[in-house]
Amino acid sequence: MLEIDTRRQRLRIRRIESGLETWEPYDQLMIGTGARPMCPDLPGIEVGGIFGVNGLQSAIDIQSELDLTDAKQVVVVGGGYIGLEMAEAMALRGLKVALVEQASEVMNTLDADMAAIVSQALADGGVKLFREESLKAFEEGKGRVAAVITDQRRLAADIVILGLGVQPNSELAADAAIPPMSAPTIPNPSATKAKMRVTRAVQ
Ligand SMILES: Cc1cc2nc3c(=O)[nH]c(=O)nc-3n(C[C@H](O)[C@H](O)[C@H](O)COP(=O)(O)OP(=O)(O)OC[C@H]3O[C@@H](n4cnc5c(N)ncnc54)[C@H](O)[C@@H]3O)c2cc1C
Repeated sequence: MLEIDTRRQRLRIRRIESGLETWEPYDQLMIGTGARPMCPDLPGIEVGGIFGVNGLQSAIDIQSELDLTDAKQVVVVGGGYIGLEMAEAMALRGLKVALVEQASEVMNTLDADMAAIVSQALADGGVKLFREESLKAFEEGKGRVAAVITDQRRLAADIVILGLGVQPNSELAADAAIPPMSAPTIPNPSATKAKMRVTRAVQ
């Protein structure tokens, strides 16, 4: 999908194989274009060897980078689900893994005492944890990433994996002036019936 025309209720589509573009009509439109990894606009972000994780292709890209560069040290930034999964995968692969998290514990979805158990499990698995540290920059060496700079130290890195959350692919909706979260949620038929009963009772 290339464009949304809300006035005429139609979408501009390009067929991937043929390149043919057509307009297709719609009655109701649901946009589910997903999200992409957050890449902070910090010094050095453009150098090679820094990856966000967004699906199978990301895993393929990271794997070939590891094979190609014979990487030994990985810095994972972000201690949420993605960061922890990646740290675990890299440690199991036998790489030296450092994980940087700005909060006092990993997994901010857990209570602190539970998160502390996760941190301990990471440390037991050989992951070096740097909590309460913020990512500040990436250092370049030989045309690719050489280190992660935090507000407290320099961590050497052959490859960096970012697990800093995602941002929605909402540009097409924004271009069509569809405001985020403006649509009503999917109606719950039982709630609607209940509301109707209440309304009748009041009447
Ligand atoms: C490593 C990893 C592990 C995860 N593990 C879990 C887990 O264990 N449990 C869990 O619940 N979630 C997990 N997630 C998160 C989960 O994958 C996402 O929340 C989920 O994929 C979001 O679904 P979605 O349909 O919104 O977006 P997506 O799955 O990203 O789908 C969006 C689709 O829209 C297509 N698209 C985008 N733009 C256009 C366009 N202009 N025209 C046409 N098509 C377009 C894309 O090609 C894509 O196919 C994980 C994510 C990652 C990266």
